[in-house]
Amino acid sequence: MSRIGVFVCHCGTNISSVVDVKHVVEESAQLDDVVIAKDLRYSCSAIGQGEITAAIKEHNLDTVVVSACSPRMHEPTFMKCMEKAGANPFKLEIANIREQCSWVTKDKAAATEKAVAQTRMAVSKARKLLKLEPMKSPVTKRALVIGGGIAGIQAALGISKAGYKVTLVERSPSIGGRMAQLEKTFPTLDCGA
Ligand code: SF4
Repeated sequence: MSRIGVFVCHCGTNISSVVDVKHVVEESAQLDDVVIAKDLRYSCSAIGQGEITAAIKEHNLDTVVVSACSPRMHEPTFMKCMEKAGANPFKLEIANIREQCSWVTKDKAAATEKAVAQTRMAVSKARKLLKLEPMKSPVTKRALVIGGGIAGIQAALGISKAGYKVTLVERSPSIGGRMAQLEKTFPTLDCGA
């Protein structure tokens, strides 16, 4: 069974001017495995991060759901909070209730309903997350390009110019693909081959 903490961000007024953040928190607190649900004014600020880290330690959370902006913005930020608190950083799920919700409507009731649903879905997914560990494995710095048409030839040349060995594989007896079959090409009327 997971011990999940849900943190719903106001983003100043970016989210809270449209979404009823308190309501999202109340609904999230009712979900199975949710140990704590709370709202944060700016989750990514030093204070917000500190509150998340403290809550993980205080409530012995192993999973965190942040309902805030796109994971492209702050997923690494919240992963670091989890690491700092001693939790596995891969047990983090983010619901994007800003770009995918508060920024695309002025309808407060609909936005709040959607934010509740997004957070509920994130909690459901978070329950299934596994603890992962980063690993390193050796890499052979060679490339295989499959298909000797123009795209394949160009890719092979590009990789080779970057200093890597390339093997170009083509199933027909010659390379050039469709291009080699054209007599003339627009606008220069060069011979395709
Ligand atoms: S975490 Fe995202 S949504 Fe929250 S305050 Fe920071 S930028 Fe805004």
